[in-house]
Amino acid sequence: MTLTPAYVMIKEPSNETMSATEECRRLAEPFVVTGEVVHGFGRGSKELGIPTANVDPEVVKAIGTQLESGIYYGFCQLVPTTTATAPQVSNGVVDTTAAHESRPPVYGMVCSLGWNPQYNNTIRSLEAYILHKFDTDFYGSTLRVAIC
Ligand code: ADP
Ligand code: MG
Repeated sequence: MTLTPAYVMIKEPSNETMSATEECRRLAEPFVVTGEVVHGFGRGSKELGIPTANVDPEVVKAIGTQLESGIYYGFCQLVPTTTATAPQVSNGVVDTTAAHESRPPVYGMVCSLGWNPQYNNTIRSLEAYILHKFDTDFYGSTLRVAIC
């Protein structure tokens, strides 16, 4: 299979670059998304060698137009389920739940928010490649992502 680099999918590089820059300016504060890790199509690990933790599509729907589709970097935590709050989306709002939790480790991550045009997906997904080696899968865990 031939993979198309993300930047090749941009139809009009100059316009899109401008819009990406604008988006970065708008993201003066991290955009925080919290949701359950669900099963995707299983392509990340199997086809690409890069597992991506897919966030509950209902939570992704709630992002709506608040955040443009794209590839972002940021940070994430696997939040203990017992202390996790309901799925939430907040832009720049201080997440007070963190103060009451034993602090889970913070990992760097790269995530994709979009329709995966390479695969013609019809549902927008948010999937994070976490920069950490995990011993096991963690489907069903709650992932908190801070998109920077
Ligand atoms: P799916 O299509 O079901 O998301 P993937 O092949 O993308 O399958 O694998 C993602 C799953 O791999 C995650 O849900 C998680 O349980 C596991 N995983 C293990 N290590 C990582 C990692 N470093 N980053 C993201 N997911 C990981
Ligand atoms: Mg995945």
